Amino acid sequence: MTSEKDYLSTLKRARENLPAHVFEKSRFQIPNADVFKEGNKTWITDWNRILKIINREEHGDHLAKHLAGEFATSATEERGRLCFQGKFSRVMVNRELTSYVKDFVLCEECSKPDTKLVREGRILIKVCEACGARVAVK
Ligand SMILES: [Zn+2]
Repeated sequence: MTSEKDYLSTLKRARENLPAHVFEKSRFQIPNADVFKEGNKTWITDWNRILKIINREEHGDHLAKHLAGEFATSATEERGRLCFQGKFSRVMVNRELTSYVKDFVLCEECSKPDTKLVREGRILIKVCEACGARVAVK
């Protein structure tokens, strides 16, 4: 017969044996982009880093188009940076980035960022690889 204390110490051992990345994922934080203004252009200088953190290295164009749409401008990717036509503040850029991550990256069911976007006909579906949830997004 196992006492509750034994049970808890077994749990504790199990936790200690889990690889560190399990906890890193559960501590996911929406990244803050580095924004740099030059003339009439605004750059996200750590674009590749942002895409990597939010697990969108394959679908960076979707985020770029979304941000450009919110700012009513155009965006082009150049050498790992994203360039907007026009001047936008760091606060504006990060506000839109945060709202994108909430809508298109984080799972509605389990809140994890382990999702991918899958196009089915005209519908874009956010599929969670952690819990299997599927949610249609705009
Ligand atoms: Zn999920």
